[in-house]
Amino acid sequence: MKKLFALAAIAVAATGVHAQDFPAGKPVTLVVPFAAGGPTDKVARDLAEALQKPLGTTVIVDNTAGAGSTIGNAKVARARNDGYTLLLTHVGMATTPVLYRKLPYNWETDFEYLGMINDVPMTLIGKPQLEAKNFKELRDWISKAGGKVNLGNAGIGSASHLCGLLFQSELKAEMTTVPYKGTAPAIADLMGGQIDLLCDQTTNTTSQIEAGKVKAYGVTTAKRLTTPALKNIPTLDESGLKNFQVTIWHGLYAPKGTPAPVLKKINDALKVALKDPDFIKREEALGAVVINDKRVEPAEHKKFVQAEVARFGPVIKAAGVYAD
Ligand code: ASP
Repeated sequence: MKKLFALAAIAVAATGVHAQDFPAGKPVTLVVPFAAGGPTDKVARDLAEALQKPLGTTVIVDNTAGAGSTIGNAKVARARNDGYTLLLTHVGMATTPVLYRKLPYNWETDFEYLGMINDVPMTLIGKPQLEAKNFKELRDWISKAGGKVNLGNAGIGSASHLCGLLFQSELKAEMTTVPYKGTAPAIADLMGGQIDLLCDQTTNTTSQIEAGKVKAYGVTTAKRLTTPALKNIPTLDESGLKNFQVTIWHGLYAPKGTPAPVLKKINDALKVALKDPDFIKREEALGAVVINDKRVEPAEHKKFVQAEVARFGPVIKAAGVYAD
């Protein structure tokens, strides 16, 4: 028994020293549960850069994509809880618990919530070959196509999946959904004409809209956006989809049990990164709004996610979509 106590004491002391030293010159891995080059990845790479100085170490992005973010989320839930493995993900944290009958982690108890990063609007975009010049023409085309429209997404539980679900339910039209490991490969196929439509974050679509490589049919916010490349795109609401509003948010997480001093260092660094003028400028150019309110506090972040689970739960349940 004595030996056990002694071992426990050594373990606590070791954790204490380790926690105080964090990050001790070791790199931090930021897991992104979607493909490289997509919207979540872009936010992660920008944030990784902004975090390096205040955190005092290198931040490496690791894309562990698949199954609508749940593979990457599970990887972080099971990672060592020492602060060297973090997760950056979006609204999927709140939609996957409703959409998946079984998840290999618990969204509420397997993570430390570290604060939110940004809010990002979405855009409904189409392949360049589509003849529809505006949302009304697109709607007519969809209703005539009778289920033959191919709508891409980043897997069940992704933001594009959520937006697509809401879109089909508003239109009362069923489409053929095509899942990818992220919307980077989806938008590549959209530009190539392999799929017809995609609803995706402005962090991925702005430059393609600006370059005329995709057709933009609407934004998912209550008001038109102010970003120069997006300001002429009508809201879906003004085009007749009343109250169609989907805003995606991103947050930062660590595995449960990460020592409190480490969590504090990361949260302090996050707060500095969110005030970094370069980071803010880059996000704004892509239509994203950097968090500048109490949701940067871990407890508020968690409360917000709990409210999102409550908000999206009934909507998703009503759509009757589940994944195993
Ligand atoms: N934006 C994607 C989504 O639909 C994910 C990604 O590729 O970052 O959730």
